[in-house]
Amino acid sequence: MAVTQALALRLIRQYLMPLLDPDHWHLLHKERRATWNGIWMICAELGFLMGKSNDPLLTELRIAVEVIHSHTTLPPRTFTFPTVVEVTYFISLCNQLRMPVQSQVRLDSGLQVDPFNFCTLCWRHPLPGRKLCVEHSPSSPRRANADGQRAAAAR
Ligand SMILES: [Zn+2]
Repeated sequence: MAVTQALALRLIRQYLMPLLDPDHWHLLHKERRATWNGIWMICAELGFLMGKSNDPLLTELRIAVEVIHSHTTLPPRTFTFPTVVEVTYFISLCNQLRMPVQSQVRLDSGLQVDPFNFCTLCWRHPLPGRKLCVEHSPSSPRRANADGQRAAAAR
């Protein structure tokens, strides 16, 4: 039987939620639509709770959710970052999980970006191997079209 996000979340709620303090049940009901990243965020939230209390059951719950997230497919599933990187959120999550901040992040598109590297003129990510983004780079293919729109957006 294929394990879908909806099935995984339903079973997590059915079998693991009763083990959790009712004060924290809202963590399993944050997402209306089940997604694998949403399930991974439950691991992160449980990890954050572990930092506040020394309950060994929380550790086991976090590990159980992590195993469900990663090992219900082959090769094991990993957290996939959205195509728009929200740097502040990313840093906050790394701090909560006590993870060293990575200098390279792989996006859904397969592109690797450094979340702390910005265009010299704005907040966008630079083109690979350049200091300027697609909007500000003089030789960008997008520069040829819609120059007026691009300039307005940049302003
Ligand atoms: Zn730019």
